[in-house]
Amino acid sequence: MEIREIIGKLTLEEKAGLCSGADFWRTKAVERLGIPRMMVSDGPHGLRKQRDEGDHVGINDSIEAVCFPTGAAAAASFDRQLMREMGESLGEACRAENLGVLLGPAVNIKRSPLCGRNFEYFSEDPYLSGEMAAAQIKGIQSRGAGTSIKHYLANNQEHRRLSSDSRVDERTLREIYLPAFEKAVKEAAPWTVMCSYNRVNGTYASEHHRFLTELLRGEWGFEGFVVSDWGAVNDRVDALKAGLDLEMPSSGGVNDRRIVEAVRDGKLDEAILDKAVKRILRVVDMYERNRRPGAVFDREEQHRQARRAAGESMVLLKNALKTGAPLLPLKKRGRIAFIGEFARNPRFQGGGSSHINCFKVDNALDSAREILGLSPAGSLGAGPAGGGIDEDAELVFARGFSLDYHGTDGVNRKLRDEAVKLARDADVAVVFAGLPDSCESEGYDRRHMRLPESHDRLIHEVAGVQPGTVVVLHNGSPVEMPWIDDAGAVLEAYLGGSAGGAATADILFGDVNPGGRLAETFPRRLEDNPSYLYYFGEKDRVEYREGIFVGYRYYDKKNMEVLFPFGHGLSYTEFSYGELTVSRETISAGEPLTVSIDITNTGAVFGRETVQLYVAPPRGDVIRPVKELKGFEKADLEPGETRSVGFTLDRRSFAYFSMEIDDWFVESGEYTLLAGSSSRDIRSRARVMVESGDRIPVTCGMNTLVGDLLDDPEKAAKIQGMLKTMEQRFSPGDEGENAPGDEAVTQEMRRAMLNAMPLRNFVNFGGGMSFDELEALIDDLNAMNAG
Ligand code: BGC
Repeated sequence: MEIREIIGKLTLEEKAGLCSGADFWRTKAVERLGIPRMMVSDGPHGLRKQRDEGDHVGINDSIEAVCFPTGAAAAASFDRQLMREMGESLGEACRAENLGVLLGPAVNIKRSPLCGRNFEYFSEDPYLSGEMAAAQIKGIQSRGAGTSIKHYLANNQEHRRLSSDSRVDERTLREIYLPAFEKAVKEAAPWTVMCSYNRVNGTYASEHHRFLTELLRGEWGFEGFVVSDWGAVNDRVDALKAGLDLEMPSSGGVNDRRIVEAVRDGKLDEAILDKAVKRILRVVDMYERNRRPGAVFDREEQHRQARRAAGESMVLLKNALKTGAPLLPLKKRGRIAFIGEFARNPRFQGGGSSHINCFKVDNALDSAREILGLSPAGSLGAGPAGGGIDEDAELVFARGFSLDYHGTDGVNRKLRDEAVKLARDADVAVVFAGLPDSCESEGYDRRHMRLPESHDRLIHEVAGVQPGTVVVLHNGSPVEMPWIDDAGAVLEAYLGGSAGGAATADILFGDVNPGGRLAETFPRRLEDNPSYLYYFGEKDRVEYREGIFVGYRYYDKKNMEVLFPFGHGLSYTEFSYGELTVSRETISAGEPLTVSIDITNTGAVFGRETVQLYVAPPRGDVIRPVKELKGFEKADLEPGETRSVGFTLDRRSFAYFSMEIDDWFVESGEYTLLAGSSSRDIRSRARVMVESGDRIPVTCGMNTLVGDLLDDPEKAAKIQGMLKTMEQRFSPGDEGENAPGDEAVTQEMRRAMLNAMPLRNFVNFGGGMSFDELEALIDDLNAMNAG
């Protein structure tokens, strides 16, 4: 039966009922018309399909699944193909588990390192977030399961997330907080979009007609349904009118009745309800058509894939002993001390709705034993790993800190002493530190950017006795590193998923060459972050006063030292960059531009470089970031190999969002293209002239400035006569009182004074015009806008 026909046969009550969940995870069925129920599940980096009755905090067990690297880690791969492949596996798992929609990806921008959910989110950069999201959605949906890109919109903190009001200006929304959603919707057509809990500029996201309907559907062409975040509905009828189709979870029938009453009372047009039902049924139909009863997913294979993905995602932040020599990769011989509970109990995922019941978890300690050919440990206490095949390698372990974050200082002191002793007697020490579960999670934010004191102290003391100290970090968001100068190497393992422990060992011993790059800046200290002054807000009012200057856009503009810049990541090999070449030296706005560069692996091992392309705008009247990421590509290179890497830039690569015309605008001028290994390691540059036809029409009045008119060539021509008169008035030799002598008035000063002059001064400042004449001129100038 056609959906339209089905809608005609549904009762008003049934239609209202279809717009909310049957329970925690399922939509409602209407058996008499053959409408099945559809189950959805979290997301985003693995399946959290609860076995029985759902509950929000996940007390009921969920099925065993593979936990892929979390969003924070995966984005650091800068690898679209990897994201797509992970998506394909997630899609296969969904189909095997009979799920219609996986609740992800989560693409909120990392406004502050403090956000409790940063581990799920991709980046501080909207372009990277959008690319990662689109790739993941394409992967999942290619396997016949839907996605729910979330949390739409401006949900960048957990603090008071159900009521807070994000006050963000239009340009900032367009340039920073919307593009990841926009890109994913336009390019990957997610089946659903999840609206967030918070308000945006005074209106709940769930009731925001402008974002749910005008932008999402009107401008971007979204055809799926919008689902509320769990419990995000404020007024059900207003939400429906605004474009929110499905309320999740079930409201126990309360809101269904409200919808029915509103239609009966004439407060809600039934056609709006029909539209929402149609959108929901379309997705349910896609689910039904893609069902594959009996399909299975291969957990072992997915686990191996998760290990590869984690290896591509981890970021080698530092690799230099005080002598300058690299410390990593570790030699597979000698006495190696693994220190820290996370070596055997890694923290690899975050708390909350994304928490996965893993079918298997690797830890670095066991994986390292395997790599070294040592037999598995009988006892996990300090001491040799025992009976290895390779007699040259010995792996010893000390706990270093208690996993109980609130463990007494005394316990930690004792564990630290043991660890320091072990490190002193070893050839090299690897400290596995990071943020324990209780430090970052959905539902609340961090209050500072430090590691637990027991971890900082452990690193400090171990590095004090062992110059060959590697630090492996397990965290979903940046941390301060007061010990950075003492550590010989730092590997940011992020929350790398259930195979993250094995991937860590792969990298430590050089079986995998790290290829991850930071998708976010690590500031030196929290106070340096641009949102620092306003984050959390005052009660529910959260002002985004830093505007577009989020992450590197701010640090670059302030020319500020950071701990590790956006895009940073080391490799066990070196890459050299050739010349950046452009397909044309001059383009008109909107004409695609092809850019390419040769990259060579100049080291001794295979490596993957992430070539980043930034665009720097000309110096104009508009306040813009110094540069913005507009392209990135991976180059896989054997030693000595050279490859050409290409990018295509489009109109949006050069544009900013103009509040004056409420649209994207390309300034004319010379743009600089920067190819780099990180945002602060630019290796090659090229220039391109962009001739833009974009104009911001100036509506003239008495107080319009001369300089603003001069920006428009036609209007500039029209006022040339008056300008001449005025110029003479300011020229040396003029009799008038406004013409000081030669030395006092430079050419620059004359220009500046004229540019800053309102038109009224043509009359009352000796421009030789009457008010009537000026008014006629203003009419002529405004008439040009129409033409
Ligand atoms: C989270 C969503 C999640 C949903 C269902 C909410 O609390 O914000 O990300 O998909 O719960 O578990």
